[in-house]
Amino acid sequence: MALYLSPARAAADTGVHGPYQRLSPADPAMRRTLGWRLALLATLLVGCGFDVSRDQPFAPPDLYRAWWAKTEACSGLSGDYDQVRWEVVPGPSFPCSSGTCAGHWQSDHTIWIAGDYVQNEMVVRHEMLHELIGRAGHPDPPFGQGCHLTWASWAGSDT
Ligand SMILES: [Zn+2]
Repeated sequence: MALYLSPARAAADTGVHGPYQRLSPADPAMRRTLGWRLALLATLLVGCGFDVSRDQPFAPPDLYRAWWAKTEACSGLSGDYDQVRWEVVPGPSFPCSSGTCAGHWQSDHTIWIAGDYVQNEMVVRHEMLHELIGRAGHPDPPFGQGCHLTWASWAGSDT
């Protein structure tokens, strides 16, 4: 899917974890999405969860430590930054449970970031916030209120 044509386009169509398009069930694109999800579900049942090829361990830049501190501050939570294991997947996105992801967090303290987004503060800190809350899903707060770490709420600002 060509989801990353421009920041505005990405903001409209793409979540950190996948497309946010609102499609009716009659829409062929929706049927394709459902088909893909069913295929993925089958894969998950056979395999063992999230699995990307081409990922590589990634030594995070020092900047990430500052981003972690900002994410702790906006959420009021604290966590162990050094416990996080980082993986990078070259390119603009990778397949994941919600479709196409720029980032992905897993409860064993692993975060995957698409190569094109390793310098994207919103994407990286979005996954950091998952690590801090210790779960998937996007409760608001802190996602949105508190921490503006979604495409819809991110203003490139300091929160
Ligand atoms: Zn998320």
